[in-house]
This record gives sequence, structure tokens and C-alpha cells, in this order.
Amino acid sequence: MTTTPAAAGIEPADPSERGGTRVDGVEVLGALSPSRVGDFLNCPLLYRFRSIDRLPEPASPAAVRGTVVHRVLEQLFDLPAAERTPAQADRMLAPAWAELKEIEPAVATMFPEDGPEITAWLASCHDTLAKYFDLEDPTRLEPADRELYVETLTDDRLLLRGVIDRVDVAPDGAIRVVDYKTSASPNEMFEGKALFQLKFYALVLWRMRGVVPKMLQLVYLGNSEVLRYEPDERDLLATERKVLAVWEAIRTATERKSFEPRRGAGCTWCAHQALCPAYGGAPPPYPAAAERATPEAGSPAPPA
Ligand code: SF4
Repeated sequence: MTTTPAAAGIEPADPSERGGTRVDGVEVLGALSPSRVGDFLNCPLLYRFRSIDRLPEPASPAAVRGTVVHRVLEQLFDLPAAERTPAQADRMLAPAWAELKEIEPAVATMFPEDGPEITAWLASCHDTLAKYFDLEDPTRLEPADRELYVETLTDDRLLLRGVIDRVDVAPDGAIRVVDYKTSASPNEMFEGKALFQLKFYALVLWRMRGVVPKMLQLVYLGNSEVLRYEPDERDLLATERKVLAVWEAIRTATERKSFEPRRGAGCTWCAHQALCPAYGGAPPPYPAAAERATPEAGSPAPPA
């Protein structure tokens, strides 16, 4: 089957996938964000669908909840410290939801306009946001940056990029990288996977600022837990080797036009099962533009 999915869809949830690259004339082999590395490691075919075919995906209530809650947590720190209260955050939810619908009208198609589904979903957004205040006191924080776009070029001319939810800098210059998750924390077996994203950001910040971040902090609003990790240079060098190895694998797959499906837990939420050979489907023809572009030719090499 070679049908394409419904046209309705939203832009990727990862903001680094929305803004395009900031290469600014520098010829790069390609670009990678933690999300795209994760896609390829989980399932090379999923990477192809998202990064090469660029197939739209339907809006998911969980992902959109994450977007709305992130937006409120970003805007909360625009307020004077004393006004960063749970009640104020609660009031900011409706405007954040309205703003998102304006930017991405497809999200409004998740639920009927006024039914019980949207009421329950908005309530879940309020609950998730409320949990934030159990974990941190925003009146005592002054973030150095929020939604910070970061990028660095490796020696191999691979652009590493992403958007960090929050960066805190202590008076002594120590950097803390903070990421909010609206899901629950993973069990110990999967903690490494969860930390990979923050190690990736720490690597990029280290390259940009010459300082290894002191602390990586994952704030899980789903079950009110915080995961903290202190990285060192060895960690970040290992992360860089891993990213470069993934990039090599992507280049090889691109040259061969061969991105194999890899079944796993993620298949449950995959929007592309109908096109997946592992589920009896067939991918669409390999995009002609991607066929013409060799990874060595620079943009548009496999995008992040
Ligand atoms: S259904 Fe599973 S195996 Fe197929 S593309 Fe999606 S994640 Fe990969």
C-alpha cells in the first residue's frame, strides 16, 4: 500500500524541528537534534518517515498537552517572581491553548469543540501544571534562558542543534540544564535514554561556552519526580561519539535508501503503521529530492 496519510497534521513537537537550520551559509553535511537521533535509534524507518519523507502526523493529546504546559512554564518566568503562583499559571493555560490553536489550527481537530473530551483534556493540562509547583518554587528561580536554541558544528561539519527548556546559571557560573517532561519518569532501565537528550544539550553548550554544565535536571510532571545527573567531560565525549556513530549510520542508510523498520514499544504510538512493512504496509516511493542530494553535497542532506 502506498497511500499517504491524511493531510491534517501539526508541526513536530520539538521546537528545534520547526525553525529550520541556522547554518547561515556554512556548508554542513547535515543536522541532528536529540529527537532525530532518538527516532533513528528506535526505528530507522520512523526516522525516514519524519525526516526525509516529512510525513505529517496527527495531533496527539499528550504531545499537545506538553506543548501547552511548556508554553505556560516559559511565560511564567516573564512575570515578577512574586506573581509566579499556581493560580496565575492556571490562568495562563487558556491563553496558551488559544495561542497554539492560532499557530497550528490542526490541534483544534483533536476533539469536538465543546464536548467532554476537550473538558477532560484541559483538566489534565491544569493537573499537570499544578504538579510543577510541588517540584520547584518559581518565585526563587531566575532562569538565564528559556527555550534556548543551541547549535554547534562538529569537526565533521555535522550541525548539532536543539532547544533547551531552561538554563539556570548560578552566581559562580555553574550551569544547570532543565527539561520539563509532562510524562512520568522512566524506570531505571530507561533513565539513560531519557538523559541522552540532556547530555546532547550539555555537549552543545560545552562546545558553545567552553563550560561543562554542572547539572542536568529532568522534571517529570507526570509523576512529580526530578531526575538529576552531574555530567563530566568523559560523558559528553561519549555522547559525541554516539551521535557521530548514529550520523554515520544515517548516511549509510541514505546512500542505500534503506531504512529498516524496527518494531518496539514505540509502534503503539507510531502514526505510520499503515505505511510500515512490519505491519503489512509499504512506504511511499523514496522522495526524489532526497535521492538527488548526497550527504556530502550539504543541504539538503538528511535533515534533523
Ligand atoms: S510502526 Fe514501528 S516499526 Fe513501523 S515505522 Fe512505526 S515505529 Fe517503526
